[in-house]
Amino acid sequence: MSNEPTYAVVEKFVSVDGEGPTAGALSVFIRLAGCNLRCTWCDTCYAQTHQSATESITLTQLVDYVNQTGIAHVTLTGGEPLLHPHVKELLQALSFVTVHVETNGSIDIEPFRVGEHVHFVVDYKLPGSGMEHTMCLENLEKVTLADAYKFVIADAVDMQKAVALVKQYNLTCKTQVYFSTVFAEMTPADVVEVMKQEKLNGIKLQLQLHKYIWDPSDRGV
Ligand code: SF4
Repeated sequence: MSNEPTYAVVEKFVSVDGEGPTAGALSVFIRLAGCNLRCTWCDTCYAQTHQSATESITLTQLVDYVNQTGIAHVTLTGGEPLLHPHVKELLQALSFVTVHVETNGSIDIEPFRVGEHVHFVVDYKLPGSGMEHTMCLENLEKVTLADAYKFVIADAVDMQKAVALVKQYNLTCKTQVYFSTVFAEMTPADVVEVMKQEKLNGIKLQLQLHKYIWDPSDRGV
């Protein structure tokens, strides 16, 4: 029997990246099953448990799939992809493309820096998520200009905390910073207003493209 790693995959598809530094560009999405958090506003509840996987795919099959798409960028997401026992092997094997790892901010990213082709889009779960106590604060020191930090803002308390963290960690000098809203709960206009008041240079407001292009409940797009 082969010892090749296998991956619990919820879905894999080609689309445009909805968020982060490559928003609007084509990407191969690989969504791994399982998450250690339970955010109040989670929009990917269908990927939260290991049982949510729809297929078990070997490393070779996943790499072949990415290769045959002809797309030069991969978005590795979840759930929480860094929980997967063999994620490092996958990241190493994908050295022929650039990879954005979308991680929920609760896991130290440093052990997963396996090459120049791997960048991290790290969430900071603000109070409104109910998961702030799980955040790995060291990541706020470890991100680079090739990575990004994403703050999903649900309300004024979240906004205040996001602004405080950006200032405290001098984040805009270290990495790319995105503010995004919980769809339909806080208006992007409110966020812009605070960005203006606080003179938040270097931060980009991000609208989740997928939810404007397709129905917000659509999957695999
Ligand atoms: S970390 Fe992401 S997948 Fe996990 S519960 Fe929060 S929003 Fe959902």
